[in-house]
Amino acid sequence: MSSKSSVVMKVLDGVVLKKKILADLNQDIDLLYQQYNKRPGLAVVLVGDNPASQVYVSMKKKACESIGIDSVEHVLPATTTVEALKDLLESLNRDEAVHGILLQLPLPNHLNADDMIQTISPKKDVDGLHPENIGKVLLGLDAFRSCTPYGVLKLMEFYDIDPSGKHVVIVGRSNLVGKPLAAMLIQKASPGNATVTICHSRSENLADITRSADILIPAMGKPEFITADMVKQGAVVIDVGINRIDTPGEGKGYRLVGDVAYETVAERAVALTPVPGGVGPLTIAMLMHNTVLSFNNFISQS
Ligand code: NDP
Repeated sequence: MSSKSSVVMKVLDGVVLKKKILADLNQDIDLLYQQYNKRPGLAVVLVGDNPASQVYVSMKKKACESIGIDSVEHVLPATTTVEALKDLLESLNRDEAVHGILLQLPLPNHLNADDMIQTISPKKDVDGLHPENIGKVLLGLDAFRSCTPYGVLKLMEFYDIDPSGKHVVIVGRSNLVGKPLAAMLIQKASPGNATVTICHSRSENLADITRSADILIPAMGKPEFITADMVKQGAVVIDVGINRIDTPGEGKGYRLVGDVAYETVAERAVALTPVPGGVGPLTIAMLMHNTVLSFNNFISQS
């Protein structure tokens, strides 16, 4: 008898959900335009010429265009000074046509990301990375939620994956993914009420911990690190990792893989996200969602 699960593994498709979220937002934006004759505005700031960042920025711009958000791109040289970047962010804070500000990370080494994020008004921090928003999320208050963790929650909701009472293991403790995701999943809310363990590079016996997960969420940036022997039979696996593997002379010259060894983990998991096409598209969808939310907030206050 085969030791493989007879249950068909569900592919958690982020592209389908992204399309639905964008279609709903498109309708909301049309209605808001009819009512107020205004559109949401997103300012995207890119410093330097990191190729991956350029791709992400162009994807965000395309998403804005597809649903009627006005996006303005500010591309600055890698040599931009602290003062010049702060001046730009402060002018965007004051600009009434801008409802959301996205500072594409990573920044060149001489620019401190925490410092710059704190220059952005929390009211326009649609990436949900300002300490005020992260802190409010931890306290269970209304705030902009960080886009990637928020996308993970939306994916769970869409596919009826209820984390309530379950052991969720997050591998990665970054401010961008691991910490805010844990803050969201422990809330007395839906989806939430999970028992959350966060692992990191100093965690001992990592495989023992990941094997105890009902829902395993790697966010490490380590290509195909999570192998089948680290996953419990029947677990849900949501792979946040996006890693470029060089493939010289083939296709684009690289391919994208997650933190999970997809083929073998697919034989143990009950549900699994592909990479690309899993959490990645939802990060963009939730950025659009937060920008429309911000627009609504500004309208209701004016
Ligand atoms: P960081 O590098 O900031 O954090 C990685 C985390 O993984 C750290 O906490 C690190 O531990 C932990 N880690 C690394 N190696 C190990 C190991 N061997 N065992 C256990 N823990 C380990 O990365 P990000 O959080 O920014 O991103 C993580 C991944 O998610 C990347 O692949 C990134 O590309 C992807 N990503 C995807 C997004 C999407 O839209 N799907 C959006 C954002 C990121 P320690 O703290 O001890 O160093």
